[in-house]
Amino acid sequence: MYRTNTCGELRLLHAGNEVTLSGWIQRSRDLGGMTFIDLRDRYGITQLAFNMDQEPALCEQARKLGREFVLQVKGIVKERENKNLQLPTGEIEIEVKELKVLNASATPPFTIEENTDGGDELRMKYRYLDLRRASVRANLQLRHQVAKQTRNYLDGQDFIEVETPVLIKSTPEGARDFVVPSRMNPGQFYALPQSPQTFKQLLMVGGFDKYYQLVKCFRDEDLRADRQPEFTQIDCEMSFVEQEDVLHMFEGLVRHLFETVKGIQLASVPRMTYADAMKFYGSDKPDTRFEMRFVELNHLVKDKGFKVFDDAELVVGICAKNAAHYTRKQLDELTEFVKRPQVGASGLVYARVNEDGSIKSSVDKFYDEAALKTWAEAMQAEAGDLLLVLAGEQHKTRKALNELRLEMGTQLGLRDKNTFSCLWVMDFPLLEYLEEEGRFFAMHHPFTSPKPNDLAQIDEMLALQAAGKLSAAYESPRANAYDMVINGVEVGGGSVRIFNKELQQKMFALLGFSPEEAQAQFGFLMNAFEYGAPPHAGIAFGFDRLCSLFGGADSIRDFIAFPKNNSGRDLMIDAPSEIAEKQLTELSIAVKK
Ligand code: ASP
Repeated sequence: MYRTNTCGELRLLHAGNEVTLSGWIQRSRDLGGMTFIDLRDRYGITQLAFNMDQEPALCEQARKLGREFVLQVKGIVKERENKNLQLPTGEIEIEVKELKVLNASATPPFTIEENTDGGDELRMKYRYLDLRRASVRANLQLRHQVAKQTRNYLDGQDFIEVETPVLIKSTPEGARDFVVPSRMNPGQFYALPQSPQTFKQLLMVGGFDKYYQLVKCFRDEDLRADRQPEFTQIDCEMSFVEQEDVLHMFEGLVRHLFETVKGIQLASVPRMTYADAMKFYGSDKPDTRFEMRFVELNHLVKDKGFKVFDDAELVVGICAKNAAHYTRKQLDELTEFVKRPQVGASGLVYARVNEDGSIKSSVDKFYDEAALKTWAEAMQAEAGDLLLVLAGEQHKTRKALNELRLEMGTQLGLRDKNTFSCLWVMDFPLLEYLEEEGRFFAMHHPFTSPKPNDLAQIDEMLALQAAGKLSAAYESPRANAYDMVINGVEVGGGSVRIFNKELQQKMFALLGFSPEEAQAQFGFLMNAFEYGAPPHAGIAFGFDRLCSLFGGADSIRDFIAFPKNNSGRDLMIDAPSEIAEKQLTELSIAVKK
C-alpha cells in the first residue's frame, strides 16, 4: 500500500498514529541535527522530520534528496514544537522511520510554488510541472466544479447529454474551419465543428426535446488572451419553447452555478436591448458593474463656434463620479489613450465640476459657464465630477467612448473581480453588412429566427436584392437572439431557430447563397425541416470563459489543462508539426519542396 493518508489530512488528533504517506518533495531544510522535508501531494503538504541522533542513516539519506523526488515514508504522527498555523497540517509532523525513494527527479526548470519564477513559455513547455502548483490545480478543480454543477442542473431539468461528431463538413459561414484530410476520399476534407449547431437542431427534429453537451469546438481565428483554437462550450437546445422559456431556463443555470460554485445569490438578471446597449454603452456587452452611461449632447453643443463639435455627427459624453481631481497630466494621458489607433478618437474634451459648483473645461473659449452647466445637468453631474466628451462619426465615437468608459471604470476601481453583474442583451439585429465582403451576414448564425414582427422585412429585403437595390444602409430586421453578459464579457449566446424550410431558404438567399449552394451546404437541415421539425431554440455558453470569470482571471488559458499559446502552438508536445511524406502521400496532399 503506497499510503494510508494523504499529505493534506493529518491533524493533532492523529498524534501517535503510524502512517504511510507518498508524495513529492516541495523543499527540504537541513538544520544539522534535524532535516525537514515538506512532502506534497494534491491534497496538501505535510512536514517530515528526520532526527540525526535517532536515525542517522535515514537523516543522511534524506539530506541528499532534491526537489520533486517522489517518496514513500512510514512514520509516527507527532505534535510539532514550532507550529505553522497557516498550514492545515501545521500542528503535526511525521517522525520518519522508513523512507523509500519511488522516483528521482531532475532539477525542475522553475520552482513549483505559488509565485513561481518560471515564465509563461517555460511553464507551458513543462505544463505537467506547472500543474503541480496549487493555484493551477485550484483553477482546474474550479473547472471540474462548474462542469459538475452544470450537469447537475441540466440533468435535474431533464436534459440529455448527447455526443455529436467531431469530423463534420466545412461550411463557409462563420469563422475559419480547421480541416482534416480524408485518406479514404482523396481530395476531400472533414472540418472540425465550430459548434454542434446543426446537429443539436437535428436532435430536436429527432425528438430529443432537451439536449446539452459539454463539447469541444474549434475555430481557426487569430488568437487573443481570451481565445483558444479549441475551447469548450456548454451547448444546449430545447423544443417547444419560446425565447422566454430559454431565458428562464438558463438564468436558472447561471444562478445555480453562482450559488453552488461561488456561494453567491444572484438577483434576477436584468435585460437590455441591443439598441440600448449600443446607445448607452457603445457596446453589445456592457460592463454593468458600474453606471457611467453615455449622454448625447448634440442638442446642447452645436453652433457655438467650436468646429469639432459642429462637424460631428455625434457628441457624447460620460460623467466620471468624483474624478474632478484628475490632474492635467492624468487628463493628457486619457487624451493619449483615446487617440491610440485601437481606440480611434481624434481628441478628448473634458470639464471639471469643482467643489464650489463652478465648471472649468478644456473648451472654455467656446462654452461659457452657463453652457457648461447645461452639459453638467444633462449628465447629472455633481460637484467633484469629471465630464469626458468625445465627438465624431457615430459608430466610431461610441466605440471609442466605450473604451474610455471601461478605462475610467478600471481607474476608479469600479471593476472589482469579486463583484458580478449579469445581463441579458436581447433583440440583436438579424443581419449585419460587412463592407469588405459587400453583403449581409448573419449576426448570430443563419439558423436564427427573425422577430415575428420583423418577418415582412425579409421579403422586402429579398425584393430589393432581386432588383439590385439592397444597400448597406437597410436597417436589419431584429432577431430572436440573446447574449448573456457578465461583467462585460459575453459568456453565452443563442437564439430561437428557424424551423420552417421556406424561411430557412429565404435566409440563405439573403446571405447570397444560390439555391444550389444552399442545398449543397445545408440540404440535410432543410430536408429534415420537411419531416415535422418542432419549434426549437437554444444557447451555448463559453465554458472556459465562465470558469475564468468565476476564478477572477482574465485569461481562459489558466483554466485549461493543456492550452495553446498565442500562435496556436502546444509548446509541450510541439504541435502543430510536419508529418511524414508517406502520410502526405496517403492523404493525397501534394508535397511542396
Ligand atoms: N451555436 C451557437 C454558437 O456557438 C450558439 C447557439 O446558437 O446555440 O455561438
